[in-house]
Amino acid sequence: MMNFDLEERLEQRSEQRLFRQRVILDSPQKPEAMVDGRPCLMFCSNDYLGLANHPEIRSAFQQAANVYGIGSGASALINGHSRPHRQLEEELAEFTGRARVLLFSTGYMANLGVISALLSPGDALFQDRLNHASLLDAGRLSGARFQRYLHLDMGNLERRLKKSKARRKLIATDGVFSMDGDRTPLAELVKLSRQYQAGLMVDDAHAFGCIGKGGRGSLKEGGFTTDDVPVMMATLGKAFGTAGAFVAGSETLIENLIQFARSYIYTTAMPPAIAEASRASLKVVERDEWRRQQLTSNVIYFRRSCESLGIPLMASDSAIQPIQVGSVEESLRVSEQLLDLGVLVTPIRPPTVPAGSSRLRVTLSAIHTREHIDRLVEALQSIVWHKPGQAA
Ligand SMILES: *Cc1c(COP(=O)(O)O)cnc(C)c1O
Repeated sequence: MMNFDLEERLEQRSEQRLFRQRVILDSPQKPEAMVDGRPCLMFCSNDYLGLANHPEIRSAFQQAANVYGIGSGASALINGHSRPHRQLEEELAEFTGRARVLLFSTGYMANLGVISALLSPGDALFQDRLNHASLLDAGRLSGARFQRYLHLDMGNLERRLKKSKARRKLIATDGVFSMDGDRTPLAELVKLSRQYQAGLMVDDAHAFGCIGKGGRGSLKEGGFTTDDVPVMMATLGKAFGTAGAFVAGSETLIENLIQFARSYIYTTAMPPAIAEASRASLKVVERDEWRRQQLTSNVIYFRRSCESLGIPLMASDSAIQPIQVGSVEESLRVSEQLLDLGVLVTPIRPPTVPAGSSRLRVTLSAIHTREHIDRLVEALQSIVWHKPGQAA
């Protein structure tokens, strides 16, 4: 490929130490996994409840494959929308307490679909600076004028809302932030959205399954209805342990998405067996309160252990417990040392996070044991951090 500077770009990526390499997982997603052919303790999965390899869910998947086959064969609007998809949509609507749900093949596509269906050039989109990349890309695709307000800063958002003369305004935010683990101030967002007649959308990818009654997520936890937050989005590939995503809202919102969300219309529907597996997962998520309790107690235990060793953590009470080390070099060095000790925590570097905030994004799961966490903390302790006694 001439003129595309492909080699130069890769060289630059390497020189900046931002080159990404994939490790190869040789086992299911679980704490004691096989990575590149050797045993490894994993602390970077989004399988927060330990459902990615759950026997009930696996068996639902296998049975559904026997009944419905593998591929869905077409997009949902042609003939790829099968009975399991419809049942999962109905069950998720019931679960979230919303009128209707629409399944998407991935969370990335759900965000692209909903934002580009709602907004056009001339409209205004307000996003938290640390929103997930899919929300940022969705803003770009929609052609709306989009602004990123300072992380969690409601004063900054309000000044922007006040100035905007756009006829349609939408505020979009992560519920729990994917790289920091902290939460958005929902009550204040609802208030501002009312005051400035803006729509409000919450991407609950990291809260769905983990918090709120039965794992219903941050909106149910805070008692927010469809009137308060008209657009809810969540994914099934994280705490649910399967794949795909959905948008939940009013009848008219969902019907609009079926008509106008291009990432819904022009793509093959998710395999029906994935929908059946997600239905099984929904039962486990709702039933197994102990998983959420264990996750919470693991988070507390990990934070306490780190505090007593002077390893600084970020302000998060979620399963995401990043250790911010600052420089790209340091994040790579620490992650490599951990891997030598048999612990996998992949470093998170720009452009995934802002420059100067590279980190080890430690994530905890309900099926990590105390012994697993002790091993992680011991490994962290044995590493010589560049500034003695602290990680920053
Ligand atoms: C993971 C994630 C997505 C994307 O979901 P996929 O199903 O993995 O495409 C969207 N938003 C947030 C906040 C996420 O963490």
